Amino acid sequence: MLSAYHHGLGSVTQITAKIRPIPYLAKYMATESKNDRAAWLYGPAARCSAAAEMVGVPWRLVLLGAPGVGKGTQADLLHGALGACHLSTGDVFRAASSWGGCELSPAMKAAVDYMRRGALVPDGTVWEMVTERKGCLHCGGGFILDGFPRTVSQAELLKLLMENEGLTLTAVVNYDLPLSEIVARLSGRRTCESCKTVFHVATRPPNVAGVCDHCGGKLLQREDDRPASIEVRMEAYNRSTTPLIEFYRKLGLLLSISAAGTPEDICGRTLMALTAWRARNAV
Ligand code: AMP
Repeated sequence: MLSAYHHGLGSVTQITAKIRPIPYLAKYMATESKNDRAAWLYGPAARCSAAAEMVGVPWRLVLLGAPGVGKGTQADLLHGALGACHLSTGDVFRAASSWGGCELSPAMKAAVDYMRRGALVPDGTVWEMVTERKGCLHCGGGFILDGFPRTVSQAELLKLLMENEGLTLTAVVNYDLPLSEIVARLSGRRTCESCKTVFHVATRPPNVAGVCDHCGGKLLQREDDRPASIEVRMEAYNRSTTPLIEFYRKLGLLLSISAAGTPEDICGRTLMALTAWRARNAV
């Protein structure tokens, strides 16, 4: 069922037909998310549990948008639809944070502290972590970067790295949403501590409060989704990440999508826009 997307060139009508009815996406969330992204989360010495399916023309995407706009959920859904691996820098720092203490390098310990406060991790640390994982950018299934780049200097470094590695970005998807809705989404978000599936207390509640529908894991509020951290993150976003929109617009890579509605609506909208984008730009 997913293979049409894996080859990436289905027509808009095929895509619309494939993503409806919505239970298709729910099924994906429940059963298809089997790649544990070990090489990304734990570094190049780790092996991913499932090799990515090779695709003719991999999708290589960056997702932009304020915290809480739903980039992580969209990255998971797009992974199901396009086969590209979800590479989230925030997930790397959260994985490091859950190991705790002594195995972490001093830079990673400091990074985890920044994350807990909701502040941006210094560019140098983020950059070291990403270059160490540059093999993931060559993933045969493509990739979806989520949370990186977050500053113009990270974007400039990514551009250089991609050029050096002989890779090109397909598009940069920027999700738009009014601030009031962003805050409501962030404060109600709950994430499974085991499989990382994201729920929302109001709009995507689990069947049993506090328990993941998929693996039975405990649902937790991210430390940085608490009100004090949300404020810091929004300020960091406005200051550091908003300029990226212009950076990618100038490079002709920016695709803006409304993040209003359900995750399935947004994903459908994204897939249609990406299909049209690929047809228009031959990328
Ligand atoms: P996210 O899950 O993308 O919201 O990231 C969670 C936290 O990880 C952020 O609030 C930052 O503290 C840190 N972080 C993730 N990615 C980056 C990045 N590219 N640059 C700086 N800090 C980052």
